[in-house]
Amino acid sequence: MPDAIRFCFDICCQGTVLEGATLEIIETPGLASCCHCGAKIELDRPFGICDRCGSVELKIIQGEELKIRSIEIEDL
Ligand SMILES: [Zn+2]
Repeated sequence: MPDAIRFCFDICCQGTVLEGATLEIIETPGLASCCHCGAKIELDRPFGICDRCGSVELKIIQGEELKIRSIEIEDL
């Protein structure tokens, strides 16, 4: 949920040396597998419905990753 992270980042930075810092998020598309028919479904949120059979039992297989690739810091 990148929007939630952006919201929390701004609030957590207020009143600290990080105030005004820029957060860059590279989003990985969400992908799930249907537990009933095995279809692959693209998701833009952590739940959904299978396009093929209508099941809501999905196993998320991509899109929940969270890695910090880099942090740039300037001298104070
Ligand atoms: Zn299905």
